[in-house]
Amino acid sequence: MMARTDPAASGPLPQSAAQPSAQSVEMIERLIAFDTTSYKSNLGFIDFAADTLRRHGATLRLTHDDERRKANLFATIGPADRPGIVLSGHSDVVPVDGQDWTSDPFALRRAGDRLFGRGTADMKSFIALALALAPEFAARRLAVPIHFAFSYDEEIGCIGVRRLIDDLSGLAVRPKLCIVGEPTEMKVIIGHKGKKSVRCQVHGKDGHSALNHLGVNAVEIAADMVAFLRAMQRRIREKGPFDPGYDPPYTTVHTGLIQGGTALNIIPARCDFEFEFRNLPSHDVEDLMAELRSFAQSLMPEMLSVDEAAGITFDEYNTTAGLDTAEDDEAAVLARQLSGNNDVAKVSFTTEAGLFHNAGIPTVVCGPGSIRQAHRPDEYIALEQVAEGERFLRRLLEHMS
Ligand SMILES: [Zn+2]
Repeated sequence: MMARTDPAASGPLPQSAAQPSAQSVEMIERLIAFDTTSYKSNLGFIDFAADTLRRHGATLRLTHDDERRKANLFATIGPADRPGIVLSGHSDVVPVDGQDWTSDPFALRRAGDRLFGRGTADMKSFIALALALAPEFAARRLAVPIHFAFSYDEEIGCIGVRRLIDDLSGLAVRPKLCIVGEPTEMKVIIGHKGKKSVRCQVHGKDGHSALNHLGVNAVEIAADMVAFLRAMQRRIREKGPFDPGYDPPYTTVHTGLIQGGTALNIIPARCDFEFEFRNLPSHDVEDLMAELRSFAQSLMPEMLSVDEAAGITFDEYNTTAGLDTAEDDEAAVLARQLSGNNDVAKVSFTTEAGLFHNAGIPTVVCGPGSIRQAHRPDEYIALEQVAEGERFLRRLLEHMS
């Protein structure tokens, strides 16, 4: 298959170091064509990746979600009795719904030195490069195994990879390090913040607003808690803890949704809001959550004195660990060598790297493409980035042979 080319951009491409191989671009085109939006099944994608790797002698482990609509693939090429290197990526992409795309997001389009399509940057190009090089990994006598870890539901909270990581306890030998190929423009990321997402429900008691002493105003209770979170953010911003490697250099606290009440003259019986902490890896997010819970407790006596059924509940529906890999850790040293870029950086967005790190596998994030193009209409990756990613994996191949 060839990528569709804009007439304006047609003509032979100059052969240079900035050009990836035809196999890599073809594989990107194959992967983009699977619509793996997080709310859909990813089984077509996983079957394709599994078949490709099986043909090259890989041993496969699959883990599924409860409905068996989605799967993670963990595949190994090389001597499985030794600690190997994991190349990890998520198969899912964010929705294109409501976005204004110039062309079909699931048909790769080449224009100039860019490849357009949903997932080109985030992060099917990295997976495609790994798959395109699988035959070469298989043809070598590897000193240690290469593992391919492709997960589902990353975009909605690193859901799938948790099962994949749990399943690794079934391996004879644990991997020695992991590279997560999220788009970092091939910079080596050794740290990212953790994240906890929480839904809070305030149950009050309704009534006529003229008789507000007989009700429990859920909107006002929620407002007290939102104000508490805001004060917490102000304190953290002023007093830390700080890590200058991050922008901003402290844990962030944010309320993003709130809903409550039915009419001005009715005491609201219910108010729900959602908030998140994005914590420095060294900042224990459970302490912050405990602070809020204890504040909520302090509001309870007054609520209960009006109505015994009143209450506040928290649903901590997603917690993703931060990534905190030392600069001289084996994973960081290797990734710096392979990328030819000695600098390391930290980022504020979360990835599944934190979960591998938390499971005791030294991990860095390093992959082609830019996060600035991720999640946007007309998402693209520069060909030069694809070529750099390919060079990185070829150097890895040499290193492992
Ligand atoms: Zn991603």
